[in-house]
Amino acid sequence: MIRKTALVCALCAALLSATGIAGETGSAGGSRNLLISATAWKQTAAEYQALYYQAFNIARLHLDNALRSRKPGDKPLAVITDVDDTILSPISYWGHLIENDLDFFDDALWDRWVEADRFNVLPGALDFLNYCRDNNVEVFYVTNRDQGEATYDLAVQNLKTGGFPFIDEKHLIVQRETSNKETPQKAIAADYNVVVMLGDSLNDFQRKYYVKDVDERIRLMEEDRERYGIEYIVLPNPTDGHWIRAIFGDSEPPANDENRAIFKAAATRAAW
Ligand SMILES: [Mg+2]
Repeated sequence: MIRKTALVCALCAALLSATGIAGETGSAGGSRNLLISATAWKQTAAEYQALYYQAFNIARLHLDNALRSRKPGDKPLAVITDVDDTILSPISYWGHLIENDLDFFDDALWDRWVEADRFNVLPGALDFLNYCRDNNVEVFYVTNRDQGEATYDLAVQNLKTGGFPFIDEKHLIVQRETSNKETPQKAIAADYNVVVMLGDSLNDFQRKYYVKDVDERIRLMEEDRERYGIEYIVLPNPTDGHWIRAIFGDSEPPANDENRAIFKAAATRAAW
């Protein structure tokens, strides 16, 4: 997780902001905050919300096809979904970061925010997963989170607050020590015919995408181009995830000028 120095910086920034003292990133209007545009899009764009409906509508088409073509003796059907930014939205966490002129991901604040249980259910997610339940298709939740000892209970609480089905020890897998989801995914696939997997990070589909090079990551995705929209349903996340890790080498890079320069270089890979 976040390095100790970064954690201290983040806590200092949070304290400064809480006391009304402008921190390093507190320039006029928060204009130095690199995620303001991505967050504004998540907060307001009908297109962002439509992408969720689109994803869950596609997933439902595949589910209906699988239900129709099921034969006696087949393995039962299942769906595997990620949690954060796939079915639950942490939008007010991002709003809090922007409001307080904090850049990048802030792990300490994130942990406090998860505990506050303020997630929004993303458009179409609940209808789709309830549709699975109503058609006897089991839903498995595979997520990576680490809020210490309380991690699992907090995930249960967040998902139950959202009203999701199948929130029990069999169906909710929370990984604290690794972000590699392949072990639980393979165990599920041994007993079920997995119709689709849903996620906002390519790591939600295969571990091979967990590389730190931007071009290599794109190349690996291209290898599987025929699986997207078929087995893999991707949800949009412009604020965080392993695409950030590919740029910085770290999913939670410290908010400093060096990283602002790296982000600018990423944004200008192609520039007229
Ligand atoms: Mg996610």
